[in-house]
This record gives sequence, structure tokens and C-alpha cells, in this order.
Amino acid sequence: MTIDVTLLGTGSPIPAPDRAGPSTLISAEGEHYLVDAGRGVLMRMAAAGVGAPQLSAVLLTHLHSDHITDLNDVITTRWVMTFEPTPLTIVGPVGTKHVVDHLLASLGPDIAYRLAHHGDLDHEPPVHVIEIDSGDVPSEGATVITAGQTDHKPVEPSVGYRFDSGGHSVVVAGDTVPCDSLDALCAGADALVHTVIRKDIIATVPMQRLLDTLDYHSSPAEAAATAQRAGMTTLVLTHYVPAIAPGGEQEWVDLAATEFDGQIEVGDDLHTVTIGDK
Ligand SMILES: [Zn+2]
Ligand SMILES: [Zn+2]
Repeated sequence: MTIDVTLLGTGSPIPAPDRAGPSTLISAEGEHYLVDAGRGVLMRMAAAGVGAPQLSAVLLTHLHSDHITDLNDVITTRWVMTFEPTPLTIVGPVGTKHVVDHLLASLGPDIAYRLAHHGDLDHEPPVHVIEIDSGDVPSEGATVITAGQTDHKPVEPSVGYRFDSGGHSVVVAGDTVPCDSLDALCAGADALVHTVIRKDIIATVPMQRLLDTLDYHSSPAEAAATAQRAGMTTLVLTHYVPAIAPGGEQEWVDLAATEFDGQIEVGDDLHTVTIGDK
């Protein structure tokens, strides 16, 4: 049994020609879970061979725009590409329902056009929003999902998710600095997917708006230390700020390796890491 981690989007709020916005696909035993829905997520999912109708759930780590930009696309595409009501489960921290309600409101004209035009379409996009802070995430799938609080203050609340399937487990942390509740979520898991920024580079840029990002993200070494404390085998870095320079992956790996003994993965969009027995 294995869990596949596919980095759908390894970018950040800064538009990049070859990196989509933050989103990660967790696939286990035929179930697909989308964590965050950044810019271009459905294009990358198409490349990975997964469509919006195949998603078991969307899980949001927090409500920063770059992590939810294309949630409207996921909702609409799922709706128009399924032929009977197939509720899309959207899990997220408190505030998610507010955001989804307003997204649906903004889609109002589109929903009305399609309902009027397609005779066989007789329902609005069905969504099922679950707001959580920590603990078990209600799910109909075989994958056991657990949420834990992260620390991305002043963005509050924010959460990470742990996926357990077939004796293996993967934690997707999202944006956070190291914290006890993330450590608790990670304890005993196999792999950690963690967003990172290069604080060593950002700190040298004399631009306050960039410097502001230093205090609520982790560096590769900080993400690595979290994986090391949890005794994990694999660390997957994503959300590269700034974008990795061509051929510069090893530098990011080396920074993480100062704090972590296991396998460190850094890659482009669609890089897939398989956790468990091969
Ligand atoms: Zn964020
Ligand atoms: Zn982010």
C-alpha cells in the first residue's frame, strides 16, 4: 500500500511561468484529496490524470488568496462535469463557509446561465463545507484524515492535515512556523509536505512587504527540523519563495539536510513522491 504525493503547484503568490499556485494532491487506494487550490490547479490535475469529479474532498490549510484562488474553478468544473448531484466536500478552518458562500454568490450569474441553458442540469453546485480546528475530519473514504492547528499568525486559524492509509501516513502542513500542535500531528508519520521560504534570501531584499513574510513561514531548515523531531523518513518541500533558480534544487536540499537525516524531495510542478512499499 502506498500514498502518492503529487506537487500540483509549487509556486507562491508571485506569478511564475512554470509554477502553479500552492496545491498538493494526496492519492491513496484510488482516493484523491486536494490540499489547497492555488492558481492553475485544474490544469495540473489534468496533467496528473485526475479531474474535479474524482476528488474525494478539497482540504484548505488556510484562507490566504494564493491557496484558494482556483477553488471556484474546482467547484464549477466539478458541477458541470458530473451528471448527477455529486456534493464536493470542502474542509477548512473556521471562515471557510463564509468564503465558499461568497464564492457561490459571485458565481451566481454563471450558475443561472447554465441552469437555464442545460435542460438536464437541475441543481446548483452542491458543496458540503466542514469547518474544523483539530481532530478527526469526517470522511466517507477509507483514508483517515486528521487535522491539527498550525501557526501562520496573524492568519488565523490555520490547519495542517494528516492522511493515514494502508499503514502509511503523510502530513501536509501548509504555511506555518514550527509549533507543538504540528509536531503532535506529525508524530510517527512517514512524510511531511511543508511550504517553505528562503529566509536567507528574503531577509536581504529591502522591501518591507517581502520582509513581513519572514515571521509566519518556515525556512527549509525549520521544516526539516519538524520532520526530524517526528522521526519521519521523507520531507517534501514546496511553495518555493523565491522560485528555485534553474539547477538550484540541491541548494534547497542541502539547507534542509542540516536538520534532517531522511529523504528530501524538491521538485517542479507534478513531481510525485510515493510513500510506502514500492
Ligand atoms: Zn499563507
Ligand atoms: Zn502560502
